[in-house]
Amino acid sequence: MGLFGKKFKCEQCGGKFGKEEELLEHAKKSHGATVQDYNIEAGKQYKFKPVKVELEVSDVKATEARYWVNELTNQYADLVVSNVEIKPDRVRFDVGSPSMEDLTSADIKFRINEYLHMNVPPFDCKQVRVG
Ligand SMILES: [Zn+2]
Repeated sequence: MGLFGKKFKCEQCGGKFGKEEELLEHAKKSHGATVQDYNIEAGKQYKFKPVKVELEVSDVKATEARYWVNELTNQYADLVVSNVEIKPDRVRFDVGSPSMEDLTSADIKFRINEYLHMNVPPFDCKQVRVG
């Protein structure tokens, strides 16, 4: 486990976890949190230049959408995500990389599109806006 091994931090007790599902499991058992109201921000503890991502969507499954966004950081270990916002017609988040300062909006857009194709999202994505 390197720098990115434990990026999910429990905001209630400070415990750290390598995967969001481990944190969610802990939050449910230890703090009685529900997935829906537990706002995970894996990127919070890292310094990075955030790039804003906005997906225009419909038919959102809210709890799964948050999970889907955070899974991005498991798929691309050099990326972190914060300020995840799930709305009925919008999924917004900031994404960046603490280790790659020269990561461009175009790089991020490429990865988001790739991720959308590889991991069926819990919504219909109509448009991807990055930057
Ligand atoms: Zn905790």
